[in-house]
Amino acid sequence: MLLDAHCHLTGNHQKDVDAEAVLRRARLADVHGVIAVGTDLEDSRNVLKLAESHDNIRASLGVHPHDAGQWNVGTEQALTDLLRSPLALFVGETGLDWHYDLSPRDQQEQAFRSQIRLAKKLNKPLMVHTRSAPDATLRILEEENASQVGGIIHCFTENPAFAKKAIELNFYISFSGILTFPKKCETIRETAACVPEDRILVETDSPFLAPIPYRGKPCEPAFVIHTAKCLAELRRCDVKHIHCVIANNMETLCGWRP
Ligand SMILES: [Zn+2]
Ligand SMILES: [Zn+2]
Repeated sequence: MLLDAHCHLTGNHQKDVDAEAVLRRARLADVHGVIAVGTDLEDSRNVLKLAESHDNIRASLGVHPHDAGQWNVGTEQALTDLLRSPLALFVGETGLDWHYDLSPRDQQEQAFRSQIRLAKKLNKPLMVHTRSAPDATLRILEEENASQVGGIIHCFTENPAFAKKAIELNFYISFSGILTFPKKCETIRETAACVPEDRILVETDSPFLAPIPYRGKPCEPAFVIHTAKCLAELRRCDVKHIHCVIANNMETLCGWRP
């Protein structure tokens, strides 16, 4: 059995998605649990509702760097209330996205710092998104003492040195379908081969980044098995072993074993 450590089953990109069918196909593929992720306040409400009605879903609730402009005292209060649910296991996704820069960088930073503080207050791990801002991400995690709660660096696209520092800060490294893409991913694959076993996770980040052999199609949690298989090949170990490691790592990180 396997887990998808980060997927989107709600929100603007998922309006036409039949979550029940998606979860059924996941179960058939031996994917027994998923962390569904909210990207803004309204989405986080929907994610929590989904978790309340499905045994195999837990929630990660937060405001994505793309939506950092909506961060204010009211948002923080409302998000805090949602995060008090025992089904909400992670705070985020939050972080920095300097690739798309859809929100001003100072707002991204403010929302990121605030959500790190919130995670510490609630004693829940973080779900971190980082794109084209490796140094700033690590600096902020360090300055805010995020190691107190740790969490997940989701959809890892950095290098082994970044992974090492993130692990020192008490984070787990989650690999997405990008790992299976043949080109432009050597440093990611190199990292996947060398990250300590007790810090690895896999995810789909669906509906994006479908792994090979589904590349270009809408992604869904069932496909995470292909990323796990690729990870096992890179690490020269049995895929069943990787499934087991990932289930153990998730339980260690957040106490959940689906
Ligand atoms: Zn993300
Ligand atoms: Zn995401």
